[in-house]
Amino acid sequence: MSTQARPDTSAPADVGSAMLSVRDLTVTFPSAEGPIRAVNGMSFDVRPRERLGIVGESGSGKSVTAQALLGLTPREHTTGSIVFEGEDLLTAPQDRLRALRGWDISYVFQDPLSALDPTRTIGHQVAQPLLLRKVPKKEAHRRAIEMLGEVGIPDPARRARNYPHQFSGGMRQRVMIAMALIGQPRLVIADEPTTALDVRVQAKIIDLLYRLTDEQGVAVVFITHDLGILAGLAERVIVMYAGRVMEECSTDELYYRSIHPYTLGLLESLPRITGPVPERLVTIGGGPPAPSRLPTGCPFHPRCQYVQPECRTTPPPLEVPPGGEHPSACLRAEWLAERPGELR
Ligand code: ADP
Ligand code: MG
Repeated sequence: MSTQARPDTSAPADVGSAMLSVRDLTVTFPSAEGPIRAVNGMSFDVRPRERLGIVGESGSGKSVTAQALLGLTPREHTTGSIVFEGEDLLTAPQDRLRALRGWDISYVFQDPLSALDPTRTIGHQVAQPLLLRKVPKKEAHRRAIEMLGEVGIPDPARRARNYPHQFSGGMRQRVMIAMALIGQPRLVIADEPTTALDVRVQAKIIDLLYRLTDEQGVAVVFITHDLGILAGLAERVIVMYAGRVMEECSTDELYYRSIHPYTLGLLESLPRITGPVPERLVTIGGGPPAPSRLPTGCPFHPRCQYVQPECRTTPPPLEVPPGGEHPSACLRAEWLAERPGELR
């Protein structure tokens, strides 16, 4: 997918102190067949204004991670810490979380229809974050119309009086972006914001999200199964598999100097021409393990072309291997680091 106006991802990231600090995040759902560990010890930081990509196949635990960041996973099933601007979201009172959500931290999800209220006008829903903050009604509606114009809704004053079913999928996703940005958040979580859309509409929506968050200086966690989308969109990328971080690096390193077999497999399955990216790896085959039946050792070992006997028993730590530049959770990361670019 081609997108325009992207940052120079080879420039060093602005290494400020973290705005969001996630440590050992684990989300375990109970089920009749035993506990489902959808997120399994994730740790990462997001800095102010940074764009962090989280990539992994469908079923890797990306959406559950996004829900946890928004305080939407049940507390009793969520452990670790999620510190946003010094405040741990996993212990903050629920009313504080509600105040943060949709205001300081907002979100754009894959399916705008389920996030929009069919009984309320578009204008009202876009104004909602402001109304909740006691912005006078008239002012809130004026700003909602302005925001609808910003996201490219034609004739926004008239269209604000429409209901969600009167909008196309692409327009509804624009409305979601307007809702996410009207409160001037400091962090936006975008979970597959374009996956449900026509390929032609996808690039437009991504460019819009990119431009507006860039103008507002908002940090973005951009979640996708499509590695190709992240080029130039994110400065840093986390590759996720079976609820864990497999590799973490700059976007450039990811494309040119990956040292994790899973990432190499994802790169290999990128189509050579523009087109929709499959949600499953074509080159490696199979899919991520069910979180209730995780393999022993490295969770990727049953699909890994570089598997060694110890991979079946020893869980790989996430660390920078000798000769490597960034962390990789692979017992063979050192071996891979000695072969830059040879493996693709
Ligand atoms: P992704 O977004 O990467 O495609 P998800 O985060 O949606 O993956 O899901 C990760 C795993 O957790 C999947 O196997 C999914 O079935 C499981 N899962 C997600 N939500 C729940 C839930 N509420 N209860 C039980 N299992 C869940
Ligand atoms: Mg998802």
